[in-house]
Amino acid sequence: MSEPAATDAYVALGSNLGDSRATLAGATEALADLPGSRLVGASRIYRTPPWGRRDQPDFLNAVVCLRTSLSPHDLLDALMAIERRFGRTRDGERWGPRTLDLDLLHVDGVVLDQPRLTLPHPRIGERAFVLLPLADLAPELELPGQGRVTELLQRADTVGCEPVD
Ligand code: ADP
Ligand code: MG
Repeated sequence: MSEPAATDAYVALGSNLGDSRATLAGATEALADLPGSRLVGASRIYRTPPWGRRDQPDFLNAVVCLRTSLSPHDLLDALMAIERRFGRTRDGERWGPRTLDLDLLHVDGVVLDQPRLTLPHPRIGERAFVLLPLADLAPELELPGQGRVTELLQRADTVGCEPVD
């Protein structure tokens, strides 16, 4: 059987507990090391105000692009395994502080609407902390059902989001 064709997949990284810079660097390395995958781009790192629940530390956020032959579901399983490796515990509390959050934003040519995996990620347009780093990598990317990254970013509230040196 021939190898599945590789596609570009965009992954959002976020952390607001522990040594977040080291966590983002380590998670990026782990993503680059996934089977059938290589890193083709990494955004700047942004410091961003907490979202959802305000009573928690600022986040560091970034986006990376992988060229991968993993299926979207296998990639999501791999993201969750990396989250666990970096100390993420899921206690049922949504939008609380976390050592590492990895979200699959978009996979070229894929649209999915399942509770376990929705693609493109349904909340990209309302999240400056995702749109800013994504625009570093792919400003012209057209997200099916949502629009072009630069246009979404123009409408987003970016107050308090700054690249870290
Ligand atoms: P959030 O990132 O919204 O704070 P979680 O990281 O706890 O929340 O993810 C909650 C669930 O969302 C996961 O169990 C996962 O199966 C599901 N999910 C659906 N679509 C996606 C996606 N595109 N990327 C990551 N998780 C997704
Ligand atoms: Mg997540």
